[in-house]
Amino acid sequence: MKLLQKSKKSLGQNFLIDKNIINKILKVVKVNKNNTVLEIGSGYGNLTKAITTMQPRKLIAIEKDKKLFSFLNNQFANYKNMKIINEDVLNFIEKKNLEKNIIVFGNLPYNISTKILASLITLKKWPPWYQVLVFMFQKEVADRILAKNRTKAYGRLTVLSNWRLEITKHFDVSKNSFIPRPKVNSTLLSFRPKKNNTYYLKNPKNLEIVTRVLFSNRRKMINKNIKKLFSKNMSILKNLNLNLNVRPEELSNETYYKIATHYEKLLG
Ligand code: SAH
Repeated sequence: MKLLQKSKKSLGQNFLIDKNIINKILKVVKVNKNNTVLEIGSGYGNLTKAITTMQPRKLIAIEKDKKLFSFLNNQFANYKNMKIINEDVLNFIEKKNLEKNIIVFGNLPYNISTKILASLITLKKWPPWYQVLVFMFQKEVADRILAKNRTKAYGRLTVLSNWRLEITKHFDVSKNSFIPRPKVNSTLLSFRPKKNNTYYLKNPKNLEIVTRVLFSNRRKMINKNIKKLFSKNMSILKNLNLNLNVRPEELSNETYYKIATHYEKLLG
């Protein structure tokens, strides 16, 4: 594949060139003629082109790079059911009037992949406008998303991701499948919104606050940081039977959700 320009690190540009992998990505979810598909960061349109062969009702491609945006416009000039948008996806996600049940694909720009995922999780409206997310991450990030507690990889990203999403790991992808070749391998994950969110929060930011404070020092026991969050209102935590002499990675996802709901109660 010939590149138009030097690939931009600042935009996390690593283009997928392995046709087998592209085909495997498309097998993860069935796209049919009723579906609207959104692709994040279409680049030179390798994955985009494969998506068009599934003939979705509508395909929205978002690309921040102006040059690549023009390239995509030329490349797909004949596809009438396609909308190419030159915008930062982080702005796009916040939009209010997106239609329902969108299937989202993204070989994500690695420098903002966790930001993109977090903003899709913390949307005000739930269930959200998407029915499934199919995302490529650096393997190390995917490992953090999938981690079990009491492991090194377990952390804020694990807790947040599992709060509202069912996560499936599909396969690892060699760094040789991209140009320019990144330093590390990748992993393909998919996410489906949980319909009944047992741990309801008025403001998802409160879960982010709780995990930020509690994971601020992985090596220390949580007692000081819990007191920081709840100050004089520690009694509110009584029925959680929380052991304060443990490290943050020892708590389960559910315990974090419970702490966050109590924290929210405290705020009134
Ligand atoms: N999907 C393509 C490209 C993946 S690289 C492929 O598989 O080959 C990531 C792409 O995301 C690049 O094209 C990059 O320009 C684009 N990108 C980076 N930051 C973005 C942002 N904030 N919003 C939208 N697109 C972005």
